[in-house]
Amino acid sequence: MKKGLFLLFSGLAAISTQAQDTTKFIIGEPAANKTMKHEETEFYTPVPTVVTPGKNAGDAPSDAIILFDGKNLDSWCGQDDPTKPALWTVSDGMITVKKGTGSIRTKQSFTDYQLHIEFRIPEGIHGEGQARGNSGIFLANTGKGDAGYELQVLDNYNNSTYVNGQVGSIYKQSIPLANPSRKPGEWQVYDVAWTAPRFNNDGSLKSPAKVTVFLNGVLVQNNYILKGVTAWIGYPYYSAHGACPIKLQDHGDPSEPISFRNIWVRPL
Ligand code: MG
Repeated sequence: MKKGLFLLFSGLAAISTQAQDTTKFIIGEPAANKTMKHEETEFYTPVPTVVTPGKNAGDAPSDAIILFDGKNLDSWCGQDDPTKPALWTVSDGMITVKKGTGSIRTKQSFTDYQLHIEFRIPEGIHGEGQARGNSGIFLANTGKGDAGYELQVLDNYNNSTYVNGQVGSIYKQSIPLANPSRKPGEWQVYDVAWTAPRFNNDGSLKSPAKVTVFLNGVLVQNNYILKGVTAWIGYPYYSAHGACPIKLQDHGDPSEPISFRNIWVRPL
């Protein structure tokens, strides 16, 4: 091959590799674009896995892990002691917080995932502010108590509180982009894409957690980069951890209990 031709081909290969690598960006249209063929930017591997979607919106796709199918709490355990069963009530295809029995968490641990979960704050809910339909989905439960990253569950249909603690917030970190709350008594839907934080061997942060959340089909968190675990008191911070369970919060309020149904996850 003539030297000039070799340089041309190796240059095109570099551009092609660069086009695949989304961490590198080309500023300004490269001169090579003028002479390239369309085939040079068309890829045939890796082939995406075939996934059969659910029949109706919200139904689990074929590769989902079903965390609650309306029948039992076999995938769940008590939060602080995995040898103890989850004691919330199962009836009519839903699980309902049983006050005083504590939060529950998945037996399985996860890193990055897509989560679908539906919740209902009961009709006739009373209380105000944070004491009105308070629960929460801990996207990674990193330790005992409320350690982890909480996506807030609260009745904010006609109830105000601090905005970084209302439904759709990453608790005390990120105000939701909108408030698409449904009335108490109606089922509401969270769809979440969670990217877990990564840590170096010395415990320092390699990459922070990120989350995208839809509430009732409305975007409320758009690739938000978390500052650390969510805390009721104090600043968020990171502390190294690996794969973690997902936790549902028993907030222990005197108001009527919150229910959940149709919970599934797709590890990514
Ligand atoms: Mg909460």
